[in-house]
Amino acid sequence: MKATHWIRAVDVLVEDLDSHAEYLDGLDAAIGDGEHGTTMLRSFRAVQRALRDVLEDLDSDVSVLQAIGATLSRAAGGAAGALYSSFFHAMGMAASAEDSEGDSVSRFVSMLTAGVSAVQRLGRAQPGDKTMLDTLVPALEAAREAEREGRTISEALAAVVEAGEVGMAGTREMKAKKGRASYLGDRSIGHQDPGATSASMILRAIQRGMSEALGKPG
Ligand code: ADP
Ligand code: MG
Repeated sequence: MKATHWIRAVDVLVEDLDSHAEYLDGLDAAIGDGEHGTTMLRSFRAVQRALRDVLEDLDSDVSVLQAIGATLSRAAGGAAGALYSSFFHAMGMAASAEDSEGDSVSRFVSMLTAGVSAVQRLGRAQPGDKTMLDTLVPALEAAREAEREGRTISEALAAVVEAGEVGMAGTREMKAKKGRASYLGDRSIGHQDPGATSASMILRAIQRGMSEALGKPG
């Protein structure tokens, strides 16, 4: 994947967050402090500006992912900000460890594996705890399955998005065991997790960023 893929993905995400900030705030209001959408939009707008400022220096996806991670660690607030910062940072580190900048499924799987592991290490949550991991872990499993089956990167990303959406929807019936929502205990049941929802938006943005950038040269 190229730098342009990720830059486009950030643009897509900001557009989506712009139209869904209130929706995400509402999900967070039900089981948290009600700012997840506003915070995500502010954070990824900062990412978008930061990427624009260093555009000439962004020669690979590694440098873009590192810039995303660094900006989120500065600009983002809340639990999700720190977790997404390490998600993107770890994906960048994994990309730099791969020998070439390609569009291979295996390279993407390595990156996603590193990103999801970083979120797990930092947040110490498990699938089933009603967090962003309930989107990210099934998405990673779908990516691995796509790799085993020899799918193309477009097919793999489509499977990733779909599995993430199913995982996200599943958080509705879960009881929160991590983060602010866990203070509610059983009262967290019946509400979709805001972080699982934003994680699904991130995956969709990655997919759309790739497919739109693949259609153009460079
Ligand atoms: P805050 O609780 O600080 O207001 P946000 O509103 O930014 O944080 O994000 C809340 C989301 O963060 C939750 O919906 C959940 O998906 C995610 N989250 C919280 N704690 C953890 C954790 N320990 N591991 C993974 N995700 C978590
Ligand atoms: Mg919140």
